[in-house]
Amino acid sequence: MLDCALKNGWLQFLEFAKAKCARAEFDNWIDPIRLISYDENEIVLEVPNIFVQEYLLDNYSDILREFVPLQSDGEPAIVFQISAPAASPPKVHLPSPPPPEQQSSSPDLRLNPLYRFEHFIEGPSNQFVKSAALGVAARPGKTYNPLFIHGGVGLGKTHLLHGIGHYVKENHKKLKIQAITTEAFINDIIDALRSKSLDRLKRYYRSLDLLLVDDIQFLQNRQNFEEEFCNTFETLIHQNKQIVITSDKPPSQLKLSERVVARMEWGLVAHMGIPDLETRVAIIKHKAENKNLCLTSQVAFFIAEHIYNNVRQLEGAINRLCAYARFQNADLTIDTVERVLNELVQSLPQKKITVDSIIQSVAQAFEVRVSDLRGESRQKEIAIARQVAMYLAKETIEDSLAKIASSFGGKTHSTLLHAWKKITERMQSDDMLRKQIQMVQRNLEIT
Ligand code: ADP
Ligand code: MG
Repeated sequence: MLDCALKNGWLQFLEFAKAKCARAEFDNWIDPIRLISYDENEIVLEVPNIFVQEYLLDNYSDILREFVPLQSDGEPAIVFQISAPAASPPKVHLPSPPPPEQQSSSPDLRLNPLYRFEHFIEGPSNQFVKSAALGVAARPGKTYNPLFIHGGVGLGKTHLLHGIGHYVKENHKKLKIQAITTEAFINDIIDALRSKSLDRLKRYYRSLDLLLVDDIQFLQNRQNFEEEFCNTFETLIHQNKQIVITSDKPPSQLKLSERVVARMEWGLVAHMGIPDLETRVAIIKHKAENKNLCLTSQVAFFIAEHIYNNVRQLEGAINRLCAYARFQNADLTIDTVERVLNELVQSLPQKKITVDSIIQSVAQAFEVRVSDLRGESRQKEIAIARQVAMYLAKETIEDSLAKIASSFGGKTHSTLLHAWKKITERMQSDDMLRKQIQMVQRNLEIT
C-alpha cells in the first residue's frame, strides 16, 4: 500500500493542478500520469511519452517541491518511466462545446472550428504526433521547431495543425498566428509581386509568432517560391518563432532543394499513421454522437472494418448514414448500413491508382474523351490533357516509364518524359492548369 502521506502529496498536487489549469490542459497533460511507487527519497511516475514529462517539469517544478520528496540539490526527486506506447486504448475526450468564435489574432486566420484537440481521437497510430502537437502548442518556439507532420491523405494532419492554432489562440493570446495552405502562400507571393508589395508581405510573414503551413508538398516543382519560403522559414526559426508544417510525404521524399529538406528536418519529424480498428470505431462513435446519430457498436465495427485507410471517408460514411436515417426515419441495422454504404464499401478496399483511373479522371476534368487521351490527335486541348495524364502517371505510379508509356496507346518512354517536362514547366506559370491538376490529384486520392 502506498504511504498515505506521500500518496496524499501527489493527490494534493493533482488537486492543485486541476484547479490551476484549464480542463483540456489537465486532461491532456496531467491526467495521463500514473503514480507507480515512492519512498521517502523519490517518487516514480509513469508518463505516456517524453512530452508529458517535459511539460510537467517545465511548468510545475517549483510547485512540485511542495508536494514530493526532494533531491539533495532541492529539485523534486521524480523518476520517470515511459509507458509502453500501444498499451492504452484509444482515448476519447468528451466533446466540449466550441467556444464562441473570438476575434482572431490576425485578420486572415481561418481555423476550422471543428478541428480542435478535443475532437481528435487518439490511438496508437497518432498518439505520438498528437503529443508533439500539444507540446508545441503549449510552448510555441520552445520545443521542436519546426514540427513536421507527415502522413497519408485524410488522416488528420490538417485537423492537428488547426488544433495547434486554436490552442495557441486561446492560451497565448498575444501571439500572432497565421495558418495557411502552401497554395495560398504561393498565391500571396504572386499577388504581392503583381501589386509590388512583396516587402510588406515578407514583413508580415516574418512578424508572426506561429506559422502553420499545410500541404508543403505543393511547393514541389515551384522553384521560384522555394527560396522565398526558405528565407521566411529561417528568419522565423532564428527568432524562436514556431513553425508547423504538414505534408503527404516525409521531408526526404519531397522533391525540394537540399536546403529546404534539411531545414524541415531540423526539428521533429512525426508520422501520422492509419488508425487501427479500435481507434476507427472510437472516431466513428465520436462523429456519430456529434451528429446525434445513434449507432450500435456492431454497426460502428462494421463500418470500421470496411473503411480503413482514410478518416475522411469514415466521415463520408457517417454523413450518408445520417442523411438516410433522417429521411427514412429508419433504424440503422447492418443490412441497411450495408445497403446505404454499398458503393463506398465495395469500392474502397480495392482502391488503387492506375493509368486507367488517371486517364478517366483527366478525361473528366478536361472534358475530352478517354479514347482521345490514348490516341494521336494533336488538337491543342487534347494534347495538353494527354500530357497532363502522362505527367500524373509518371508522378503517381511506380512502374517503368516504358510500361506506363505503353498504356497510353503504345507511346514511347521519351514521349512520356517529354510530356512530363512540358507540364512541369507549364505549371510554373499557368495557375489555372496547376489548379486543374491538383483537382485531379485530389479526386484520385479521395474518391
Ligand atoms: P489530412 O489533412 O491528413 O488529409 P484532415 O485533417 O483533413 O486530413 O482530416 C480529414 C477528416 O478526418 C477531418 O474532418 C478530421 O476532423 C477527421 N479526422 C482525422 N483524424 C481524426 C481523428 N484522429 N479524430 C477525429 N477526427 C479525425
Ligand atoms: Mg490536409
